[in-house]
Amino acid sequence: MVSKLPNIGTTIFTVMSNLAKEHNAINLSQGFPDYPISPVLVDLVTKAMQDGYNQYAPMIGVPELRIALAEKMNKLYQSSIHPDTEITITPGGTYAIYAAFTTILQAGDEVIVLEPAYDSYIPTIETNGAKAICIPLRYPDYSVDWELVKASITAKTKAIIINTPHNPTGYVWTHDDMLKLDEVTKDTSMYIISDEVYEHITLDGRTHESVLKYPSLFARSIVIYSFGKVFHTTGWKMGYCVAPAELMNEFRKIHQFLSFTCNTPMQVALAQFLTDENEYLLLPSFFEQKRNLLLELLRDLPFTIHQKAQGSYFQLASYEKINDMPDKEFAIWLTKEYGVATIPVSAFNHNGKDDKLIRFCFAKKDETLELACQRLSKLQQR
Ligand code: GLN
Repeated sequence: MVSKLPNIGTTIFTVMSNLAKEHNAINLSQGFPDYPISPVLVDLVTKAMQDGYNQYAPMIGVPELRIALAEKMNKLYQSSIHPDTEITITPGGTYAIYAAFTTILQAGDEVIVLEPAYDSYIPTIETNGAKAICIPLRYPDYSVDWELVKASITAKTKAIIINTPHNPTGYVWTHDDMLKLDEVTKDTSMYIISDEVYEHITLDGRTHESVLKYPSLFARSIVIYSFGKVFHTTGWKMGYCVAPAELMNEFRKIHQFLSFTCNTPMQVALAQFLTDENEYLLLPSFFEQKRNLLLELLRDLPFTIHQKAQGSYFQLASYEKINDMPDKEFAIWLTKEYGVATIPVSAFNHNGKDDKLIRFCFAKKDETLELACQRLSKLQQR
């Protein structure tokens, strides 16, 4: 058959998680927590099921959940999102990214992608018949080279996809980045796909710059969020998408024939759980402690940290002092020989550009991080 994605294999998250299982390694690769979720949330889902919320939810999502989300966003980002016309509940963030690109792209369009980039972006652009125009972020701080972005815009540029806090680098966009984004895109007909799934994981007193805070940006944006990252429930595959009414109307035309809707009891439970602001407002201190612990443990190992994670739950580390294997080989070797799985960062570059970096996920119990670094303590500096 003719493959839609001839150069794409299995996603690195599946490859490394499978390898971790096979070799009984501690899995700091794929981003997911290993600690329990809130028992209150579990009880709310159970109750929703017992109360009979077991049939199809409305296509756009349970109204109470959309209302709770609109209130939360409007308070946090001083926006005026309408729960009926501007929010759709989706089966996860990756799904919403796919549906968003399918909504806006025509064959031959170009999309600007800042690399390293989450591995679904480019294949999603390509299955929609469009072309990714890849621009490297500045190494090693991963800030945006706005001159390069500007120079890459052509008559075919349909969109730019941005991601803050950033996976895998942990870079958090500044107010100035948002102003630059506005300046560079305002006289174009480009859309902005804004992947904000780590919105609540900003560290060291940073604040999240959502496109929702900038009306002129939001007017041409589709914004992606994830409950998995906020409530530690990645396995629920629940997220949502926010866009101005006209765009959202088009998004829903796609969504209704992709998954139609998503599971009802979790939506009912999440609507109730959202009333407790602390569940998300306390995430920065929760994850700051974990990042600091990981950094402290790594300090005694032969890794080099070029940049502390500013946000997200990922920390990059260079292994230049250990050996000069390609990063994929290094990550496999570390999993097999030392029992710790990580993600090689070249998996986030379309051309396999290899800066000899691996990504650690620190959304783990303290004891998991400690045990992993204990295993890594056998590593020798070359
Ligand atoms: N977002 C998660 C990560 O970057 C994984 C998503 C996935 O496994 N598809 O690790």
